[in-house]
Amino acid sequence: MRRMIISGNWKMYKTLEEMLVFFDELSAWEKNFAHENQILIFPPNLYTITCLEKTRENNIDIGVQNIYFEDFGAYTGEISAPMLTSIGCKDALVGHSERRHIFGETDEEINRKILSLIKHDKNIVFCVGEKENERDDGFTERVLETQLQSGLVDVGEKDMQYITIAYEPVWAIGTGKTATPEIAQEAHAFIRGWLNEHYDSHVAHKTRILYGGSVKVSNCEGLLIQPDIDGALIGGASLKINDFIEIIKKGEVIAKRKEQ
Ligand code: PEP
Repeated sequence: MRRMIISGNWKMYKTLEEMLVFFDELSAWEKNFAHENQILIFPPNLYTITCLEKTRENNIDIGVQNIYFEDFGAYTGEISAPMLTSIGCKDALVGHSERRHIFGETDEEINRKILSLIKHDKNIVFCVGEKENERDDGFTERVLETQLQSGLVDVGEKDMQYITIAYEPVWAIGTGKTATPEIAQEAHAFIRGWLNEHYDSHVAHKTRILYGGSVKVSNCEGLLIQPDIDGALIGGASLKINDFIEIIKKGEVIAKRKEQ
């Protein structure tokens, strides 16, 4: 059975003080909550070291929201995979739709970031997803296929151990418009089928596929129970400690139900 992941993408939210209060509460709560699912948070990169320190006694993973694909150099404002190694950070988010659509990140750059992270032994949450007009025009599968194909160029079967895919329909991110469990499951099944075709059944079976897009306490169960949904990447609701904890708790119940 695939280990589920409940993850939070904080984007560019929270001051240092707010982040410290959040982790004081989450870390204290988590110590007394036995969980099988992975908890993974992507705070603003500026806070990565502090968050790693705040969660040292916990079973909570901290990742960065973005990296650059070169190891070192004159790249003002960027951070690299070897720098993650130097601070003990093992996880990174790549290809989030805000990076693609606001910062113009291309499939080729996303692929280079993925290859750099693999070279440096890092786990990657690789985001894919179609825009609203692409879904309306019936191009969802074609868009997913292109993003998967180009993002995973030169990523071999063994390298897939580092990859988690996050299906995040762009029209559902930060809009309050969640994909129905049926729509999400259909896209996840397509992605798993693509993995089976382009890698093999082992990779297809092992790779975790998260759903992201307006996941909330009220809709998480219907999504997480789907057979091909292995967790959630949560934006807005991951910023609210009570909501995030509720989703973690519900995720744990669902994981146990799926095991049966
Ligand atoms: C995200 O930022 O990846 C996301 C899914 O945001 P939200 O949950 O707010 O839609």
